[in-house]
Amino acid sequence: MMKLLVINHKFHYEMEKLVRIFMPDKKIQVVYEDCDDYNLLTSVTDEIRVEMNFDSFKKTLSAPLCEDNEMQMGRMVYSLFGEYTSFYPKWGVLTGVRPSKLLINTEKQMGREKTEEYFKNDLLVTDEKFSLARTVADFEEKIIATSKPQSMSLYISIPFCPSRCSYCSFVSHSVENDKARNLLPQYVSFLEKEIAETGEIAKKIGVELESIYIGGGTPTTLSAEQLKTVVDAVSNNFDLSTCNEFTVEAGRPDTITEEKLLVLKNSPVDRISINPQTFNNSVLEAVSRRHTAEDTVKIFQLARKLGFNNINMDLIAGLPTDTLEGFKHSLDTAVTLDPENITIHTLAVKRASGIGQSTPEIAVKNATLASKMLDYAYEKLNGKYHPYYMYRQSKSAGSLENVGWAKDGTECIYNIFMMEECHTILSCGGGAVTKLKAPYGNEIERIFNFKYPFEYISGYEEIRNRKKRITEFYSTYSL
Ligand code: SF4
Repeated sequence: MMKLLVINHKFHYEMEKLVRIFMPDKKIQVVYEDCDDYNLLTSVTDEIRVEMNFDSFKKTLSAPLCEDNEMQMGRMVYSLFGEYTSFYPKWGVLTGVRPSKLLINTEKQMGREKTEEYFKNDLLVTDEKFSLARTVADFEEKIIATSKPQSMSLYISIPFCPSRCSYCSFVSHSVENDKARNLLPQYVSFLEKEIAETGEIAKKIGVELESIYIGGGTPTTLSAEQLKTVVDAVSNNFDLSTCNEFTVEAGRPDTITEEKLLVLKNSPVDRISINPQTFNNSVLEAVSRRHTAEDTVKIFQLARKLGFNNINMDLIAGLPTDTLEGFKHSLDTAVTLDPENITIHTLAVKRASGIGQSTPEIAVKNATLASKMLDYAYEKLNGKYHPYYMYRQSKSAGSLENVGWAKDGTECIYNIFMMEECHTILSCGGGAVTKLKAPYGNEIERIFNFKYPFEYISGYEEIRNRKKRITEFYSTYSL
């Protein structure tokens, strides 16, 4: 437990997030009443004061009030925690999940040079991470420019998986459980209905579909027939003539069959994901993924044989029991297979995951290792691939990033539209969130579907009611 005492300022939320970067496995209690047993005091009176009192480490820093007291306090907290833990996060005091979006927006206000100074001197972002953010932002800006006021993308959620991976915190039901498996047919039929109704709404408000993403969970947990029902529902209810990309996250190799790949191949789907996460069988076993490295290779080669020419592969840096050599082997194997996209994630340990319950300290333990893995990945991928989108998750090892790498011309535009919040994302399915983006402004409104498949089915009428808001929202704009 870490007790954070807040005196006379409103930055408690930001300070808590910053402390979490250093101690992702600790529970943080924020208190506002003066007390003696705090671990970290943050106060703004006639000066800014930060006092750390943790184990035998006791140190106080103070600074005069300035134009940006919050930033100043953040740097003081960073300095104290850095000294205490000997860990200096490469993203400095930046806690946000979208560094490239922040960079783009800051550049609009300050210009290119001042933005670099701001990132490096004020936010304490390292040269290496700033350069990554800038490369990503420069590419993203080109894609963002293609999004029009009438643009939208579509997200379909399949919150089912063949079994649960121990690092995963998504709301996804394992079909090992009879109850979840039995829900599948009903889920697909409600989803089919929601896709049709959402297609009607899209026509009515006059939006143009730019990209589609079917994710989860693991969409290929569905049978070939169910998968066809979902993909056909999209094709039959939306105008795909303006759509530039249709991704299905096949995901776990143990769910992918030739029959399912053929369903996708004989549809407008033009991008799939086959995710190894690691090519080390002992690590796969340690994280309860029920497939082998050989399964991934076999399925990848089958997908190639069937003509898929835009395939993504996800890898994770920092998995339990993995080593630097092991990660290098995984990445080298992925590069040899030659997919169009490779996405490198950093392990994030959320409380809702198996690891989060059993060994939450692994995010701290594996921080240096994950950082070395990313260094290797960036060195290996640079040149053949380029980084094109990026985000950070809370509680990731070393507070490091997730980066999508792509060969030129194969980048997943949905990822950029969604991450940078360029336009409306209409969403269907359990746990899906529709994000309405004002066509001529930055206003964003969210409509939440029920999270769990059972609630989704039983609460469908309520979802339908909530979605009436889409038409209302657009009625004030002329597209
Ligand atoms: S990591 Fe993917 S396959 Fe594993 S449980 Fe989570 S969503 Fe399912």
